[in-house]
Amino acid sequence: MADRLYAELGLSNTREMFKKAMAGGYAIPAYNFNNLEQLQAIIGGCAESRSPVILQVSSGARKYANQTLLRYMAKGAVEMCRKELKSEIPIALHLDHGDTFELCKSCVEYGFSSVMIDGSHHSYEKNVELTAQVVEYAHKYDVTVEGELGVLAGIEDDVKAEVSHYTDPNQVEDFVKKTGVDSLAISIGTSHGAYKFKCKPGEVPPLRFDILDEIEKRLPGFPIVLHGASSVLQEYVAMINQYGGRMENAVGVPEEQLRRAAKSAVCKINIDSDGRLVVTAIVRKMLAENPAEFDPRKYLGAAREELKKMIIAKNTNVLGSAGQG
Ligand SMILES: [Zn+2]
Repeated sequence: MADRLYAELGLSNTREMFKKAMAGGYAIPAYNFNNLEQLQAIIGGCAESRSPVILQVSSGARKYANQTLLRYMAKGAVEMCRKELKSEIPIALHLDHGDTFELCKSCVEYGFSSVMIDGSHHSYEKNVELTAQVVEYAHKYDVTVEGELGVLAGIEDDVKAEVSHYTDPNQVEDFVKKTGVDSLAISIGTSHGAYKFKCKPGEVPPLRFDILDEIEKRLPGFPIVLHGASSVLQEYVAMINQYGGRMENAVGVPEEQLRRAAKSAVCKINIDSDGRLVVTAIVRKMLAENPAEFDPRKYLGAAREELKKMIIAKNTNVLGSAGQG
């Protein structure tokens, strides 16, 4: 075993987290961050609700925030959590949708404890080859790897797809065996962004739980990951529209469906859009109600508090991860 580079930052990989989540019938939250306030809200919310957490960074976030700064933000977040918040919750730093071997390698070197290699847009053979290459490298540093089979529709930073392709359960055993991945992202009808389904609010989106069940049968006890799993909380969409925004027909995954997924082999649920909605809604409201305000701490601080509340509610009422850290 080579050096655990991530240990220097005080991080954990996802292996133990997923094992406990599988046994306990809950899912670990993976919250995306690009800035200080989001990171404070995630760590504060997860420490307060005693939830293990995966801090998730996309390649777009890495470009936005700078890779060196991100490394020390993560290190600082862990130290703040231990020293100031007196919390020992496990914290992973994960690359979301890595698209090349080089990007995954660079993240391992910068101290990430987990990476995703998303080869789902390639042919099956090329996906296997690329994923296996990343696994071979990452495992030398005890970094866990998430692969993907099937394509999610929608837009998320640099990840774009017009149409989705459900994961084919017939491929999962072969993929896991040939690549050695630690977890697998699947496509059962969720999508990236705030416009996940064509149905109206109140209608139940057609998620393919039958595919999830079939995959669980083929890979008993293997950690499954759900992307595009924001609920697109309607109170914040309404707030955005009330204060000058325009978001029409934004729909996400109902919380009951996420609860059901969290009890199954789904061990990691990705939440990005909901956090974006909360911040935008509160910033719009604060600025509309306080037109003379020009201190960013006032409106970003308010957004941070609301985001923390949302995170505690997700961990407690939806994922079941509260109290498990
Ligand atoms: Zn995703």
